[in-house]
Amino acid sequence: ASGLMAGKRGVIMGVANNRSIAWGIAKAIHAQGGEVALTYQGDALRKRVQPLAAEIGAVVAGDCDVGDEASIDAAFAEIEKLWGKIDFLVHAIGFSDKDELTGRYVDTTADNFDKTMRISVYSFTSVARRAEKLMSDGGSMLTLTYYGAEKVMPNYNVMGVAKAALEASVKYLAVDLGPKNIRVNAISAGPIKTLAASGIGDFRYILKWNEYNAPLRRTVTIEEVGDVGLYLLSDLSRSVTGEVHHADSGYHVVGMKAVDAPDI
Ligand code: NAD
Repeated sequence: ASGLMAGKRGVIMGVANNRSIAWGIAKAIHAQGGEVALTYQGDALRKRVQPLAAEIGAVVAGDCDVGDEASIDAAFAEIEKLWGKIDFLVHAIGFSDKDELTGRYVDTTADNFDKTMRISVYSFTSVARRAEKLMSDGGSMLTLTYYGAEKVMPNYNVMGVAKAALEASVKYLAVDLGPKNIRVNAISAGPIKTLAASGIGDFRYILKWNEYNAPLRRTVTIEEVGDVGLYLLSDLSRSVTGEVHHADSGYHVVGMKAVDAPDI
């Protein structure tokens, strides 16, 4: 194979269907000659992930529920058996109870706070520790975050608090793993209509608002986020670590509604 990812192999976690951000990244990696192993969550998603894997010649590395440490061990054991060594890892996983992605943050329950942090934050650290062992020649790790970590976005609530913790983890992991030439970065993606996003209250309004007010006057696609992922996973970004890179049509620099934006 030729291309930016030729000779590189890695694991992509978080493909649920062909609208998943993880799928946008997987396609970009494949197009540049990289080899991909996909993990999925639960039997129900297997039948969606298998045909997608076939499209890009990816290996389906198994059912992996990141809330269960034994399940993560099993998935990484399978990957170790398959390849011995990997060059990249993508974590595109998040979860919070839909009932709390609406209304007020102050009403977050302890149970959902714990579950949201475990699945959306700790899981990246947990898989990073397994992936480190397989990155004997260095590597690149990537997670997905959102602007709701930096500024309060309506209904994002406990996910915003979780993404802030995830972004802090990116920095701590970058320092821990840097001496092994393992880089750790995040993409802060603009809003995209995916399965996970459909759980967020008034999501259509957020999409429209971004479209009217982002400097580029449009939202982003999974293919565009995939290309940014390609940069962060390839050697082009070999000097970049601990970074949160926005792929959001520039929305994060805007301080006020655009003068030409319609009232919505
Ligand atoms: P998606 O629904 O396609 O992907 C979410 C994935 O998380 C699914 O594949 C799901 O199976 C997986 N997941 C949830 N709980 C899991 C568990 N316990 N074990 C294993 N996997 C589990 O939605 P997406 O929007 O592509 O989400 C990917 C990432 O991108 C998430 O971290 C999300 O917060 C982030 N993100 C999304 C947007 C957006 O607007 N869609 C914007 C910025 C960041």
